[in-house]
Amino acid sequence: MKKKKRILTGDTPTGSGRLHLGHYVGTLENRVKLQKEYDTFILLANIHAYANYYHKGKEINEAGYQTFLDNLAVGIDPEISTILLESAIPELYELYGFFLTMVKKNRAMRNPSVKDEIEYKKLDASMAFICYPILQAADILGFNADLVPVGEDQMPIIEQVREIAKDFNRTYGETFVVPEGKVGRVARLVGTDGSKKMSKSGSNAIFLSDDEKTLKEKVMSAYTDPKRIHATDPGKVEENPVFIYHDNFNLNKKEVDDLKERYKKGKVGDIEVKEKLFKALNNFLGPIREKRRYYEEKPKEAKDILVEGTKKARKVVQGVIALFRERVNINKLIE
Ligand code: ATP
Ligand code: MG
Repeated sequence: MKKKKRILTGDTPTGSGRLHLGHYVGTLENRVKLQKEYDTFILLANIHAYANYYHKGKEINEAGYQTFLDNLAVGIDPEISTILLESAIPELYELYGFFLTMVKKNRAMRNPSVKDEIEYKKLDASMAFICYPILQAADILGFNADLVPVGEDQMPIIEQVREIAKDFNRTYGETFVVPEGKVGRVARLVGTDGSKKMSKSGSNAIFLSDDEKTLKEKVMSAYTDPKRIHATDPGKVEENPVFIYHDNFNLNKKEVDDLKERYKKGKVGDIEVKEKLFKALNNFLGPIREKRRYYEEKPKEAKDILVEGTKKARKVVQGVIALFRERVNINKLIE
């Protein structure tokens, strides 16, 4: 029997840790779709969160739990997929430490994902933040993953991970799989404030766990076409977050086409467009909220999933690490 290919993906428990619509179309949907075909590992990247703010250990834990619940809520099946806590697999640190020796300072400083993130989060970046693609290389190569479902903003990181794998293999012989990135149906979903990326560290996200009231408030105050003052002014649907969300979450395509036509001619007000969007999103979120509630009410069952998942994942990493140690001759002096 052919061995299943492996997926490694994950989320950083920054902010509240709650996942949003951007995560859904960027990566969660692919995880759910591919989990039967691939051996799937989902990493709660809490060490990455410390790289953002090392002093917030308690908040990172709380956020990690929310990230975990959201993965289950969208349909990650714990019977077939594995969810794990990054920090509980110390072998990943070992690999990270080694990879740090391989990457030159100028290469680390050049990563566009890191540069963009420092800018929009206004970070006084820690060394760990600058090096986070290298930790991500350890996460991915530590599992010898074939495929990494990510949003477009992460693709330069996958490129750096591939470089590390190739460099290592060239130096020490075939050891790591060179992974491929896989971007979702929307590469980068815009924020409700019209900025180019919905982000859980900012305040422009519609969360998968938002209740009806919060959802309504966010939709009704979302950014639309700034040039349109009156409902009778012709409006622009391209790059308009409200229409982008309609396109991606409203299953009634006829309704969306009709709204677009009328919007372009100045024959519909923002309120009607937004009320219809609210309904569509509320329908979309219904089953997700319900599944989340199921696990919220069963904290013991939920915790067991994470504990067991982390144990299973650690064994997989230990297998990969054994070969890595062999290849680099580490520890030979005491063996
Ligand atoms: P932060 O602002 O703290 O970086 P985030 O919202 O970017 O948070 P991450 O945990 O960094 O969330 O990202 C998890 C995954 O979701 C990554 O693969 C990332 O590329 C993807 N992703 C995040 N935001 C979006 C978005 N707006 N559109 C598409 N994919 C996204
Ligand atoms: Mg991010």
